[in-house]
Amino acid sequence: MITLKNIVKAYDGKQAGNKAVDGLNLEINKGEFVALLGPSGCGKTTTLMMLAGLLKPTAGEIYFGERLVNHVEPKDRNIGMVFQSYALYPHLTVRDNIAFPLRERKIPKQEAYARAKETSKILQIDHLLDRKPSQLSGGQQQRVAMARALSKNPEILLLDEPMSNLDARLKLDVRDEIRKIQLSLGVTTIIVTHDQEEALAISDRVAILNGGKIQQYAAPHELFNYPINLFVASFLGSPPMNLVDGKLEDKSGDQVVVTDGFEYKLPEDKILDRTYMGKTIKFGIRPHDLVVCDKNDNQAIPMKVDLVEHLGSGKLVKVTDTQGKLETMIRLLTDNEKEIQPGDLIYIKVKANKFHLFDMTNNGQSI
Ligand code: ATP
Repeated sequence: MITLKNIVKAYDGKQAGNKAVDGLNLEINKGEFVALLGPSGCGKTTTLMMLAGLLKPTAGEIYFGERLVNHVEPKDRNIGMVFQSYALYPHLTVRDNIAFPLRERKIPKQEAYARAKETSKILQIDHLLDRKPSQLSGGQQQRVAMARALSKNPEILLLDEPMSNLDARLKLDVRDEIRKIQLSLGVTTIIVTHDQEEALAISDRVAILNGGKIQQYAAPHELFNYPINLFVASFLGSPPMNLVDGKLEDKSGDQVVVTDGFEYKLPEDKILDRTYMGKTIKFGIRPHDLVVCDKNDNQAIPMKVDLVEHLGSGKLVKVTDTQGKLETMIRLLTDNEKEIQPGDLIYIKVKANKFHLFDMTNNGQSI
């Protein structure tokens, strides 16, 4: 198990200064695949560099199992690492690139080559062993970098945006391959990425970072369905969650979300503690949790269609309330069968219990 305890990193070395990582706690189980995900500058790479031993924490402790590794050199940490740039040695063949970490450990050439061959078979690049990196495609270079990282059987594999140089199609294949190899070898893996789809697709758990702090650390489906706060809710999901300003009110016994453009009565099984009444909130609904319904449906909300975007698999429809009072457009996803044009009046409703409430008087915490 890897444990990060109250990790702080201030590049100027002063704890009181600007912290790239600010009191980060994280536990990663043996064999787990964990993604560090967040916007640019949130501290992902800094965290990975501390795990690798390339940066020292300003405060806090890093344990690999029971062993405190804060002062252990990178070469003594038993990690493999793949960078965004792959950082292959251009003058060396694929074979020598893969064997490099073994040769560094003074493993005899013959044995190092034999192991390089073995690893190259797992990654299906054994036919490329005599080539130089410049004679390889981007996807092949990526695999060589993976093979090099795995050749010394590391306990931990660290991946820093390893797919960002690949085109969209190849990215999908490579990410599946990385996950397959990781599962078959059982190597504990930590990936840094700003691509949420990638993180959610291949990880057991994802840590969402913002401002050097972990916002939520959970399995992908949990992050998506039960975001802990407004940041996680708005960061995850494409198209993003609709977030409408509102207030919680008690209206003759019913609890109602009141917004500028519509009202939504909370269902019986979602009744809140009375202390929430009167609070300023954000009402969140994901675009696929809104459906077009019949005018006579008792939950129908009338909306005017502003824009229709064709996505291929369906349509993204952007609507506003009929009075034009809402500040933002609301997005919903529909199938291609529905004939919807800009200017149409349609009726929409929220799928049963598929909404989120965020307490704006408490830093956007989920209610
Ligand atoms: P990105 O996705 O853009 O790579 P990131 O989440 O990996 O971002 P980090 O590279 O860890 O973010 O940076 C976190 C913060 O630390 C940023 O504010 C960044 O400007 C700052 N930072 C990073 N490296 C240094 C450095 N060598 N010296 C000073 N500040 C740094």
